[in-house]
Amino acid sequence: MERNPTRNIKIGSVEIGGGAPVVIQSMCATKTTDTEATATMAQTLFDAGAGIVRIAVDTNNDAAALAGIRNNTTANLSVDLQENWRLAEKVAPHVDKIRYNPGHLHHAEPSVPWREKVERLADIAAAHDCALRIGVNCGSLDPLRREADDPMFLSALEHAEFLDSIGFTQYCVSLKESDPAAVLAVNRRFARERPGVPLHLGVTEAGMPPEGIMKSRSALEPLLAEGIGDTLRVSLTVPNDRKTEEIDAARLILENVERKTILRPGEWNPGRLNIISCPSCARVQNGAFVELAENLREATRPVAEALTARPDQRTITIAVMGCRVNGPGETDDADLGLWCGPHEVNLKRDGVLLGAFSYEDIQPRLLRELHEIAQLSVKSSKNEC
Ligand code: SF4
Repeated sequence: MERNPTRNIKIGSVEIGGGAPVVIQSMCATKTTDTEATATMAQTLFDAGAGIVRIAVDTNNDAAALAGIRNNTTANLSVDLQENWRLAEKVAPHVDKIRYNPGHLHHAEPSVPWREKVERLADIAAAHDCALRIGVNCGSLDPLRREADDPMFLSALEHAEFLDSIGFTQYCVSLKESDPAAVLAVNRRFARERPGVPLHLGVTEAGMPPEGIMKSRSALEPLLAEGIGDTLRVSLTVPNDRKTEEIDAARLILENVERKTILRPGEWNPGRLNIISCPSCARVQNGAFVELAENLREATRPVAEALTARPDQRTITIAVMGCRVNGPGETDDADLGLWCGPHEVNLKRDGVLLGAFSYEDIQPRLLRELHEIAQLSVKSSKNEC
């Protein structure tokens, strides 16, 4: 598979970029403080073909658990720090890569300039032979860039330029969106602008299989076929014991690119009810989240079929998120957005919070709202000329 001439970075026993084979990634969804379960899951994913396995770290207890996890798996480990940049010092001795999110860096200690935080992250990473990932996500944009044209691209570019300016080159970039067309566009633009920077590809909140696999294929296969992308993750909403399906899907994508049997535009009809859902991670606050997403898909199927059969209907998006960390932000653009708490599910319509509902009551309430939106959107599209 011909690749763009990106520079090479080392993550434990694997390399990405610089002509190395494309590396598959996945992520643990066990509680990070459950050292045994997390080490076991990391090893299972590694043995199944994930060259890099990510773990979420939010607290001192999570950070403290990493030493035990490290000792019990041979997987190459990456940590996801979200806004907890101060924990980098504690995690770096035990991992091979640190992912930070430029948007989240503004949340914790807003009085500390972001450049100071990134410089600190780079110093710590360099001292422990860790790579960094600048992980830009559509649901948690840099507040200083939110109103800009193409904020994801600009945010990634700014951080890449800053790391270059301080002499830190062991980094890669990811630009993740839930819309496959947006993933294609922003990664192509970044690869044109910074062809030497290794890219981690992914469609965020791709959802449940098979739709989540098709969404990922429709963005990642064309990119890889163009030589763009050095590592990939297929994010799927599946229970923990089926997480290796992410790796199978990533392998299928790489094989399709190799065989030149990639998904072409128009070959897959996504329908007019778009359910996006997060792949879950250690931050999930109620294990019922995956089951809720699956039940909602079944319950909304008749509406999905009715919408898809109507040419006058626009696409309606339902977002289902597993926690309060990314849930509130990543449901903003959906017609109906849910994020799950320990005992209740928060429901938003058009970005406005309608309330928190029990896990039993959320489905009927969501269906009520969905039927109403479907009626309104037929009317509004009829009024368009
Ligand atoms: S929304 Fe929350 S639970 Fe889901 S993957 Fe993102 S951080 Fe993890």
